[in-house]
Amino acid sequence: PKMLALFAETVEQAPVAISITDENANILYVNKAFTRVTGYTPEESIGRNESMLSDKKTPNSVYEELWSCIKSQQVWHGYLLNRHKDGRRYLADLTIAPILNDRRQTTHYIGMHRDITEMY
Ligand code: FAD
Repeated sequence: PKMLALFAETVEQAPVAISITDENANILYVNKAFTRVTGYTPEESIGRNESMLSDKKTPNSVYEELWSCIKSQQVWHGYLLNRHKDGRRYLADLTIAPILNDRRQTTHYIGMHRDITEMY
């Protein structure tokens, strides 16, 4: 139990925006850095879809490639144009990984991203 609490607190305080979703990208958990990077608190993001971060101008083919990758239980890494709650666009360096159960079925996804706008 002590170790579980430590895991939870480690994810909560990790210096990268982390979200945990169901298999359709509906948000179940966000950490502190997620709120810092996106502007959305847990109350404002849990229950919504990750697509709330989309700038709505990215070609659909980008998302199709992302989904075909994670659906085949592989890790996807790439760059997406995201929209902060305040309306500002930012470049996200994003990694999405499937979380499997003991029958090797995908039950959840973890998303990890940082704002790399300043690097460009
Ligand atoms: P969508 O309605 O999502 O559709 C875009 C295309 O994606 C569809 O045509 C379809 O081919 C495919 N697709 C969508 N949902 C599914 C599904 N459940 N199964 C199979 N194929 C599907 N997007 C961002 O823009 N920014 C992020 O930071 C971001 N983080 C994510 C983190 C995680 C953990 C996950 C799982 C997804 C994340 N996404 C993120 C992707 C997001 O869920 C949306 O797919 C994306 O934002 C496009 O949204 P949309 O409403 O424009 O289109």
